[in-house]
Amino acid sequence: MLFRQLFDAESSTYSYLLASRQGGEALLIDPVLGKTPLYLELLRELELQLVIAVDTHTHADHITALGDLRNATACTTMMGERTRAECVSARFRDGESLGFDGVKLRAIYTPGHTDESFSLVADDRVFTGDVLLIRGTGRTDFQNGDPRQSYDSIFNKLLRLPDETLVYPAHDYRGNTVSTIGEERRCNPRLQVQSADEYVLLMNGLRLPNPKLMEIAVPANLRCGRVA
Ligand code: FE
Repeated sequence: MLFRQLFDAESSTYSYLLASRQGGEALLIDPVLGKTPLYLELLRELELQLVIAVDTHTHADHITALGDLRNATACTTMMGERTRAECVSARFRDGESLGFDGVKLRAIYTPGHTDESFSLVADDRVFTGDVLLIRGTGRTDFQNGDPRQSYDSIFNKLLRLPDETLVYPAHDYRGNTVSTIGEERRCNPRLQVQSADEYVLLMNGLRLPNPKLMEIAVPANLRCGRVA
């Protein structure tokens, strides 16, 4: 598989490019507006045709490039079935496979950070959006987030993947790039709880400030990145 992890320093967002081979079709996960020229250049260099651009959830900290990429490449824009972004061209359901040109991704509904978050599993790796981060978990205090759902998504869905599964989150603020399910189970401080209740208490005690861009990013992302 052809795989690239791309980074937006402003929002500490990771975006991911997947393709089966040079010259084939490609998919982008969680692309960031403003990086479109970079994505298009990379696609051109690797002779890839972008067929799908997907967001794991409605981001509050950066604006999505979904609409921009659709305009530039005529790709399909996708989000999970519960998204409120009317602009996406297709939605996927829990358990559904997104496939193209030799690459297959399985969508798993993993609410908690938001009520419409999905994770995407491809072979030996999982793209966890903001539900499971490296040594952290996504906040659950806005956009219909719910710490109990986050616990359930992490403990009963993601941590059931094989221990060696690579974990690729949508963000990292400390410089980590990849982890594994086994490593997160052992080393992620948020996951060292004895019960769902203990996790809920921990998450409800975080009291984080809202992301700087939230008031702009969320409405724009409901329009696939079109700023009013
Ligand atoms: Fe998020």
